[in-house]
Amino acid sequence: MTDIVVLGSTNMDLVAYVEKAPQRGETVTGREFRTIPGGKGANQAIAAARAGGAVSMIGAVGNDAFGSRLRSCLETSGVDTGHLRTTEGPSGTAHIVVDDEGGNAIVVVPGANGTVDHLLPGDESLIASAGSLLLQLEIPLAAVVAGARAARAHGVRTILTPAPARPLPPDLLDATDLLLPNEHEAAALTGLTDPRQAATALLERVPEVVVTLGAAGSLYAARGAEPLTVPAPRVTAVDSTGAGDTFAGALAVALGEGRPVRAALEWAAAAASLSVQRPGASASMPHRSEIEARYA
Ligand code: ADP
Repeated sequence: MTDIVVLGSTNMDLVAYVEKAPQRGETVTGREFRTIPGGKGANQAIAAARAGGAVSMIGAVGNDAFGSRLRSCLETSGVDTGHLRTTEGPSGTAHIVVDDEGGNAIVVVPGANGTVDHLLPGDESLIASAGSLLLQLEIPLAAVVAGARAARAHGVRTILTPAPARPLPPDLLDATDLLLPNEHEAAALTGLTDPRQAATALLERVPEVVVTLGAAGSLYAARGAEPLTVPAPRVTAVDSTGAGDTFAGALAVALGEGRPVRAALEWAAAAASLSVQRPGASASMPHRSEIEARYA
């Protein structure tokens, strides 16, 4: 049984920690190197599975060592990888340089993610069997649109995180039930820096919008209703990487369980607040029991 299907990216983050990032032509010695499984698709899948959802992931890894690790990382968190393809060639990688001031420079090489430009036979029936489909924009847009349309055709709720920010084609918005940008993405999509105004503008395109506001929580807007602001628990954040993905995964689980919107947003905020208190993206994502304890 599947509650949630995630159609999206898997990446291995290759992170070098340096005092100061190199300029063009320069070589510097780094302090530390880490390989961290990531990709917004995989992160949302892991967040949803840990939050208690029955989750399947559609996407692709390469036939390299990173691919096996990315797959097993999903499986360890309970994500079904039966629809995760293994393709000839490298997995997606993100090459990240983090300097001592916390600044970073990132090169993303899509690798296997670039091959996910259509649905395979079987993907549509998997989507049809789910309650929700989670989408982001780290795989070719053609597949995102195909996934959203398949979901719409079968009455499956589509939740789209529009990241990395880019203009969205009308046929994707037409098949989106809930748009879930952070405040920067909401501004990029609308040209409006005020999240409330941005959410209102986005309601002309989709029926429901949640703008995440970092430590300030989230803003929910739906057609014909007053916008709702839901605060985030006050915590000491050590690493907010993946906070938005944790929020998305947990929100899909909560809505799928039929929780009312405010309660679902509070539950997602509880999950995300736990993730920001620990380092890493998927590694920091909380399990359901922790979310329940925080939410209570
Ligand atoms: P993204 O990670 O996509 O940039 P946000 O920064 O808006 O997204 O964070 C997503 C959610 O994570 C927020 O709505 C909030 O619930 C939670 N969150 C993020 N930062 C903090 C923080 N410092 N304290 C508590 N919760 C946080």
